[in-house]
Amino acid sequence: MGATDSGHYVGMKNNAEQLRGAGEDHQECFSFSRLGSFEKCPKAYEYRYILEAEPDFETTIEAYMGTCVHEVLERAYRQPGATWRQFSAWYEQAWAAGGPEKARIVRRGTQADEYRRTGSDCLKAYHRTFYGQDDGETLGLEQEFFITLSNGERYRGFIDRIARMPNGVVRLIDYKSGKRVPNPATDMQLRSYALFALREHRQDAVEICYYDLRAARAKLATVHADDLPEIEAITVGNINRVKDATRFPAKPSILCGWCGYNQQCDDSYWEA
Ligand code: SF4
Repeated sequence: MGATDSGHYVGMKNNAEQLRGAGEDHQECFSFSRLGSFEKCPKAYEYRYILEAEPDFETTIEAYMGTCVHEVLERAYRQPGATWRQFSAWYEQAWAAGGPEKARIVRRGTQADEYRRTGSDCLKAYHRTFYGQDDGETLGLEQEFFITLSNGERYRGFIDRIARMPNGVVRLIDYKSGKRVPNPATDMQLRSYALFALREHRQDAVEICYYDLRAARAKLATVHADDLPEIEAITVGNINRVKDATRFPAKPSILCGWCGYNQQCDDSYWEA
């Protein structure tokens, strides 16, 4: 599992949560990142969602970079036709404004500026490869949604962008600035978001798309209405497993370095 995508940090907010400043207001809701936190380390889940403990650091440099990149892409679709010069200026503004010095650098021997450049390279490649050629109509940006599942639980998510493509198909888009990008045919993030989108947009099918920003590649799959019962059953099963948990054992791994509780946790694999 990659540790360079903010969605993978145990106990940390994901990009959308950081952009919205959200998370704590919705402790009663389940989300893909909340379920993922339990999978990666139940103890980190307990710190964050049961004990509501303060993490030791606000963010990591990878998550910080991802948040800045997301801010630029949101802005770019609010102002269609943006030039690379605008992209670059917005990114540098976002990078300086958020205070990169507050972000934890976990990988030894790396500097914040390397991450700043990686984010800039991601945006440059996206601008060159996709942005100018994008003829989708934007239906939503950083869209938050809530749905009620068959077990009565509320499920919440953020969709980076929703677009109607020229052939009429609705596409759900998630930008990934980390090294590893999930396979949309199996990964449950956007598949579970299709539970909302298929109902909302009254479609028989939606496309889901992860943009691998480092490789300038779009990874696409289709979710059909027939797939929804299975997707809902998996999501409900995952929620029930978390709700029924009575023990929260530590699962130390290389990811401890990115865990917001690694200085409070006696089981941490990571040494400062
Ligand atoms: S430091 Fe590691 S073992 Fe401890 S809570 Fe965090 S991820 Fe789990």
